[in-house]
Amino acid sequence: MRQKINRRFTVIALFSVVITTIAMTAVFYSLLKKQVFSDLAVVVNLLIDEDLYERKIDNLRITWIDADGKVLFDSTVDGQLLANHLDRPEIVEAVSSGTGMGIRKSDTLSESVFYYAKKLDNGQVLRVGKGAHSVEAVLLSALPMVLTMALLLAGICLMVSHYLTSAIVKPIEEMAGDMEHIDEKESYPELIPFTRKIRLQHEEILSAANIRQEFTANVSHELKTPLAAISGYAELMETGLVDEKEMKRFSGEIRKSAARLLTLINDIIKLSQLDAGNAKDILEVVNLAEITKESVEMLSFGAAKNGIAVMYEGDDKADVHIGKELAQELTYNLIENAIRYNKPNGRVTVKVQKEGAQIIFSVEDTGIGIPPEHQERIFERFYRVDKGRSKELGGTGLGLAIVKHICNLTDADVRLMSKPEVGTKIFIVWGRGSA
Ligand code: ADP
Repeated sequence: MRQKINRRFTVIALFSVVITTIAMTAVFYSLLKKQVFSDLAVVVNLLIDEDLYERKIDNLRITWIDADGKVLFDSTVDGQLLANHLDRPEIVEAVSSGTGMGIRKSDTLSESVFYYAKKLDNGQVLRVGKGAHSVEAVLLSALPMVLTMALLLAGICLMVSHYLTSAIVKPIEEMAGDMEHIDEKESYPELIPFTRKIRLQHEEILSAANIRQEFTANVSHELKTPLAAISGYAELMETGLVDEKEMKRFSGEIRKSAARLLTLINDIIKLSQLDAGNAKDILEVVNLAEITKESVEMLSFGAAKNGIAVMYEGDDKADVHIGKELAQELTYNLIENAIRYNKPNGRVTVKVQKEGAQIIFSVEDTGIGIPPEHQERIFERFYRVDKGRSKELGGTGLGLAIVKHICNLTDADVRLMSKPEVGTKIFIVWGRGSA
């Protein structure tokens, strides 16, 4: 860009210098011409005033012509030898209007000549000519000066164009050099939409990179714990010093850790599938009420063992563009949480309801609730209010992150109402945009 602007400026500058030089020369030449003619007029008038028609003056050709065109005298050639001059343009002009001027190649002399002719009272004509060589010599003598000026001007133009280019490009280069503060740099108003967009994208990229890095660190950490447990128990068993009762307990611990690893890896795979560009491909219209009832059925047996009742109280049919797999994932995760973070003999009420154009899925529990300061963050990956409790109950900290992802993918809103020690209610609402 800098090169391009600089090149354009230079071309414009040089072009103007060339044009100016030519124009200046042309003006100078025309002034000179005028001057030459007026000088010649002075000489002619002087000669006429003094009645000196047969004079020789250096560098001038003086011709005295009779009214019939016959050359009476010529200062450069023998007048007798010259042809009739009545056809010469300056003579024609002088005869008809008193004075005549012309520049032309002389038939007699071998160069271009400036002529000035004046009619005398008796009808004769006196003409003075000046060779163009002497005029051109004046012009030529001015040439070095003109060229020096032109070169000087060109040099100044080049410097100015260089400076202007730098001034134009500088704000842009400064912006490119410091992307993080691109918005704060003073630049052109025309660029503000771009800088704003670039800054936003820059921030998005940075934050995505941060999230990814944090996620990778968290995943490694989460995988390490069960693996360390498995390795530890296996090492103890390897010594052969473990009695049968302990052997059984250790095997149980190994199985639990392995199961934990499996759920964790499953959740991670689900998240990365939801992150993939083609995640929307599996969306299709399904009966969410039906799928919710299946999830309730699957989970209520285990819940009942802890004295927790899970009830479905919604409609029988509610179509949502979500696809079976994601519908199962979403309903299962939310109902599982309502059971997991419940109190003994608690209740879980699950509903799918149609309200106008909206479909509302809700899960209400009578559990431990979520303190207000945590409510914003529980949808983040690996965020848990009570890490120990979540782990003990087989949680991965990814369930709600998956739910949130599914909501984003299917254009649903998530709303949460929770009171510590009283319970939690989570709503997922589809079709708000169209309502
Ligand atoms: P986890 O696998 O730990 O359950 P989630 O992402 O599903 O992970 O939930 C994140 C955290 O949100 C949980 O660890 C828990 O602290 C809190 N939470 C989720 N659902 C409920 C609920 N129904 N009642 C109380 N706390 C909940």
